[in-house]
Amino acid sequence: MPASKPTKKTSPFEIAREALGHVGKFQTPPTPSVYEVWYRYVEGVDDIIANLAHAVEDVNAVSVDMLEQLHEQYCRNIDDSNAELSDNLAHEISSLQSIIESQMHAGVQLGNELDEACGTLKETTPTAESVAECAQKMLSSNNTMQDQIRQLQTQLQASQAKVESLQAELSETQLVAMTDPLTNLGNRRHFDVQVHQALMLAKSEDLFSFLLLVDLDHFKYINDTFGHESGDKVIRYVASQLTQLCPESPISRLGGDEFAIILRNDDFSEATDIAAEIRQYFASTPLKLSGSGEDLGKIELSIGGARLRQDDDGRSWFIRADKLLYQAKNSGRNSVMLEHSRGGV
Ligand code: GH3
Ligand code: MG
Repeated sequence: MPASKPTKKTSPFEIAREALGHVGKFQTPPTPSVYEVWYRYVEGVDDIIANLAHAVEDVNAVSVDMLEQLHEQYCRNIDDSNAELSDNLAHEISSLQSIIESQMHAGVQLGNELDEACGTLKETTPTAESVAECAQKMLSSNNTMQDQIRQLQTQLQASQAKVESLQAELSETQLVAMTDPLTNLGNRRHFDVQVHQALMLAKSEDLFSFLLLVDLDHFKYINDTFGHESGDKVIRYVASQLTQLCPESPISRLGGDEFAIILRNDDFSEATDIAAEIRQYFASTPLKLSGSGEDLGKIELSIGGARLRQDDDGRSWFIRADKLLYQAKNSGRNSVMLEHSRGGV
């Protein structure tokens, strides 16, 4: 949860004035992208507030890189640029189609010309001249055809290369749109996609998943005691260790110090073992800050988990796991609460 929220403003003048105030206060250059992030922050875009809430408490914690990444992720209209790329792709594919059609047409044309040339031979008693004339026609049609084929092949190759690069660009944009810049894990968008896939798997193959929500305990203490940069290092560390502990499972950072892991199996005891291993691993591994060597102590975390049910949608599944996470927090933290059965907790 963000520590503090700016009060939402509606007048564009008011928003612009306050956004410029932030540009000055945080000493960030008023480039269009930096200004837009501040504008959206003041305007009240939740994802930007959630990502900046911790940093705005300390003027030194906001960097231009951070704002550029937020701009890339939340301000650039990904849907628009995806739509533009898809349009270009569709255009290129249709030009590929017309190149292929031209090639087929050229083939038919050559066939007709050859037929016509041979027709002369069939109708009359061939003389040496008519054979030579026919051979001449065939030769010239063949040359024209060869020229056309060469031209079309060059166009075909150029068009294929363009389709490939557009496809690569499209997947790159989609990847950026689903990546959390701090940890390189998936972000909330990625999580939504993974949840959707889990729902599809349950429907089509009767394969049910287990959702684990992981939230660090008293993480604000790390930020307050060691600074935001150290807090960021801890978040990155947790992300990389979670990836090692659950290499097969999609993991997303939902924001702040909260992560989601989707286990592609709804077996309660297996999920319990994994959750217990995660909790135990962090609780028993003391950390030192790289560089200063300062002692950070052990990272404690709480985990809530729910198994997917037949009648679930993404929201109902998430809400159950989130409630269990709160129960784990309320039971003293550093603990795991998972749903036992499909029917209840
Ligand atoms: P709890 O035990 O109840 O989970 O308390 P907590 O202190 O961990 O606080 P909570 O989970 O409610 O909030 C997470 C805090 O993480 C809020 C914010 O100050 C901080 N935070 C959010 N995003 C970032 C980030 O990107 N970097 C850093 N360093 N801190 C962040
Ligand atoms: Mg926390």
